[in-house]
Amino acid sequence: MAGTTADVVIIGAGVNGLSAAFRLAQGGAGKIVVVERTHVAGGASGKSGALVRMHYTNAPETELAVKSLGVFQNWGEIVGGDCGWNPTGFLRIARPEHEAALRANVAVQQGLGVNTRVVSAAEVAELAPMVRADDFDVAAWEPDSGYADPVATTYGFARRAAELGVEIRTNSPVAAITTEGGRVIGVELAGGERIAAPAVLLTGGAWANDLLAPLGLDFGLVPQRVQVAVFHWSPELTGHPVVIDSFHSSWLRQEGSVGTLIGVELGTRGTDPHAFSEAVDAEQIERCRRALTARIPAMDGTPMRGAWAGLIMMSPDGRPILDHLPEYEGLFCVVGDSGTSFKTAPAIGQAMAEWIISGEPQLLDLAPFAAARFTDGRAWPHEHRYGAQEDVATISR
Ligand SMILES: Cc1cc2nc3c(=O)[nH]c(=O)nc-3n(C[C@H](O)[C@H](O)[C@H](O)COP(=O)(O)OP(=O)(O)OC[C@H]3O[C@@H](n4cnc5c(N)ncnc54)[C@H](O)[C@@H]3O)c2cc1C
Repeated sequence: MAGTTADVVIIGAGVNGLSAAFRLAQGGAGKIVVVERTHVAGGASGKSGALVRMHYTNAPETELAVKSLGVFQNWGEIVGGDCGWNPTGFLRIARPEHEAALRANVAVQQGLGVNTRVVSAAEVAELAPMVRADDFDVAAWEPDSGYADPVATTYGFARRAAELGVEIRTNSPVAAITTEGGRVIGVELAGGERIAAPAVLLTGGAWANDLLAPLGLDFGLVPQRVQVAVFHWSPELTGHPVVIDSFHSSWLRQEGSVGTLIGVELGTRGTDPHAFSEAVDAEQIERCRRALTARIPAMDGTPMRGAWAGLIMMSPDGRPILDHLPEYEGLFCVVGDSGTSFKTAPAIGQAMAEWIISGEPQLLDLAPFAAARFTDGRAWPHEHRYGAQEDVATISR
């Protein structure tokens, strides 16, 4: 079958693939083709909670978030249009036994320029009187953080990329990444068409293993189903900050100006990405309701207004892999998003585009995110974690 050529092929039209497409086009990378098996925002990006907070338990991810925040704040000038940015503030509530870790993390974040501080429960009661604050002594507060609309953000990157000449092909599954003599030479679509390209960026979300495995690449990535529910506010509620709450393993934010979107972590792993339900389990609604009411009592007895499930791709350490894979010259990847790579997509896209165009990322050092960290002893230590099970206790959204 006849083929086409491109300078860069991006697999996956999620927020990371399209952020990179926009920056590649802006950087003059030539002909860029995005191939997507379903539709724009067809993966995690279309389902995301889209919390934008700087609080992590490590510096490299905080840096990614910090370097992305300005894009959300100045979306109109940088990308154009409206990404639904709403800086409601962010509250990180940890259990009292993790107060030292919380303080240490806030100090790291302050050192990286984050506007954050440790606040007492009494201050929380003033800053956010709707939030129950009698079960902890201190929390971390970020006045500049909030959330965005994940679909508007992804569409926004897509629109700008297309305006700059990027071709976005939907309903076009990639069957294989093609290689020759240790370098990438393009992709083959499910219908047999080939697109030849010296650089391929895989941003395939929960489906990435389908394309990595035939290349002999196994990074221990595991697809995981994540469920959320939306509840309408009671009349006395007019807004609230984003909250991540270790007591109830939950994360929540406003959904528009009338409701709250909440997710409760279950810590389950392993889902077939080709056979998963976008609907939620009935018992998850009640879990969400309990966690929400426990933290925002005014939500007691409020109506559930919708719920859905999406897929994330967990990496072994719960952090993304951002790499130019040494096994294949020209093969770049943003995989293992670990349910936390919406807020960092602006920086990830920019740094990956720089890497493809100029041979190295300039925005920040991506070495901590190399795939080889799992095998060459560069795995990061858990410095100031909030529990034995980092992914559940920390709540990675
Ligand atoms: C319920 C939920 C809540 C979340 N909350 C937050 C949050 O609050 N904050 C945060 O930062 N992150 C959050 N996340 C995580 C965040 O949404 C993801 O990390 C991010 O959207 C990943 O974007 P992506 O572009 O890397 O992948 P995806 O959005 O998953 O996109 C991958 C795309 O690749 C396509 N694809 C796969 N294989 C192929 C193929 N062979 N050929 C062609 N196309 C292919 C898929 O169809 C898909 O569209 C959440 C995720 C979920 C599901």
